[in-house]
Amino acid sequence: MRLLGSLFLAVLVSSQTTNIPPDPLQEVVRRLELDRYKAHIKGLAQFGDRLQGTQRNRAAIDWLEKQLRSFGYTNVVRHRFISSSGPLENIYATKTGATTPGEMYIVSAHMDGRGGGEAADDDASGCAVVLELARVLAMPDLRTNRSVRFIFWNNEEFGMDGSGTYVSERASLQGTAAEPKWLGIIQHDMMMFDHGMPPAPKQSPKADINVDYQRSSAKAADSAKLAAALQAANRSYAQDYPATVGTNMAGTDSIRFEDVVASVSVRENERVTGIVMGSNPNHHEPTDKYESYAEEDFRFGFTAAKTTLGALGQLAGITFMRGGKN
Ligand SMILES: [Zn+2]
Repeated sequence: MRLLGSLFLAVLVSSQTTNIPPDPLQEVVRRLELDRYKAHIKGLAQFGDRLQGTQRNRAAIDWLEKQLRSFGYTNVVRHRFISSSGPLENIYATKTGATTPGEMYIVSAHMDGRGGGEAADDDASGCAVVLELARVLAMPDLRTNRSVRFIFWNNEEFGMDGSGTYVSERASLQGTAAEPKWLGIIQHDMMMFDHGMPPAPKQSPKADINVDYQRSSAKAADSAKLAAALQAANRSYAQDYPATVGTNMAGTDSIRFEDVVASVSVRENERVTGIVMGSNPNHHEPTDKYESYAEEDFRFGFTAAKTTLGALGQLAGITFMRGGKN
């Protein structure tokens, strides 16, 4: 009996090692680096709050372009638009899908900020998620079946007219040579600070990543599915902090898309019940600086990067090209 038991165990172990391949997406997610995530935040923070219309804002866009090109993107685009304060630019790069290039997910954050500090949390922390995903997905041995566009919106803070202009100009162009068909948008805005309510000095042991969609929007059902995909990916690929789904997405660029395509925001707290109630004392303040955040705050934002990359693995289809070329 004992012999039979160990024989059974041996068969079980060997079937596990030979028949169940390791999840390749785990290897993709492992390529994200916390130190690089932090360096992206610091890189944007060096330009101060990047208030729209300022030289700090323009210098930060130049810096973003340099990063995207250094990852290997040759298709960096400046999307120019006129805001109430004059001409501004969004900037984006696209990982072109290998099998279905005409369909794409948008992964975004807003590069402008306010408050006279460094806008490190709002929203260099979200831009750093987008940059780190762009870096990993540019690796030559990775391909996505569908396209992924990494967009850095301008002037979220005073009108969301970077994202608003993009939607009004391009929604009708979807499916043409000018614009792939949109499958969904995942916006990242304030990704580091969930210290509870009222906020404590340190990251809360109950800190969670808030994935919100808007229940009263035209695309609520599709958006709920997108939020569920992020929550599932969080459980599989990003266990450090759990994801909670909410139904009142508000106050960030993804609301411009909510009646057109599946739209979610990823955040440290709900906008309405958390952030506007004072969950982050640095919000829009001179203290929103890189040095105001601790290691566990950075790790929180990094967990959001793992979550979104894991979700894109399923949604856009990320695969390895062993020994192949891109
Ligand atoms: Zn923001």
